[in-house]
Amino acid sequence: MTKEAHEILNKLLRGNKKYQKNCQEVFEDLKSGQSPKVTLLTCGDSRVPASIFGIDALNEIFTVKNIGNQIRISEGSLKYPILHLKTPIVIILGHTGCGAIKAATSDYRKEDDAIQRELIGLKNSILRAQHEIKKDVSDELLKQCMISEINVDHQIDKLLLDYNIKPKIENQEVVLIGMMFDIHDIYEKGCAKIFITNINGNRDVDKINTHPVLKLFSEKEDVVKRLT
Ligand SMILES: [Zn+2]
Repeated sequence: MTKEAHEILNKLLRGNKKYQKNCQEVFEDLKSGQSPKVTLLTCGDSRVPASIFGIDALNEIFTVKNIGNQIRISEGSLKYPILHLKTPIVIILGHTGCGAIKAATSDYRKEDDAIQRELIGLKNSILRAQHEIKKDVSDELLKQCMISEINVDHQIDKLLLDYNIKPKIENQEVVLIGMMFDIHDIYEKGCAKIFITNINGNRDVDKINTHPVLKLFSEKEDVVKRLT
């Protein structure tokens, strides 16, 4: 075992000691169960934790993570909080510089079998992006970010077709929100900013701006933006 592993585990266990001291009372209240308000599907990338929303995600955000934020490989985990915990908001969050998108657009035949199986799931998003991105994009990072954005659209469209989720959206019990987390300042408003790119399958920026779910947020122009 490397020395590094000892140090890391020590850091984690010491961290929990502090955490327990501060949070013991909170968990007394949580013994009876969880009541998150948000279901979040995002990439496994460690640069995209639920804490980017700037709130304590504890009992607020039910987080599902996998490479490339794909419904296909975590469908049950995603539907559980929507159908049983009844979270009114479902966020599909992609991000710039996604390693899964990069790998899925490259030759990954020598990759581990299990990883290959999960990358294959991004194929339809990539094909859709090839069809939708009309202009020639020479910047490779920008191109991958555009594919990530379309991958979020693709995941939302899948949920819109789901026989259990669809009626909830129609009855306005659930709203699906597509977002991109900008690690690389690709959207040109600074790093670490979240952008809304889709609401209930709608990708038109003007229509997103006027959606009632955004009525309390006054700086819509600042957060509603698309690359594609
Ligand atoms: Zn990623």
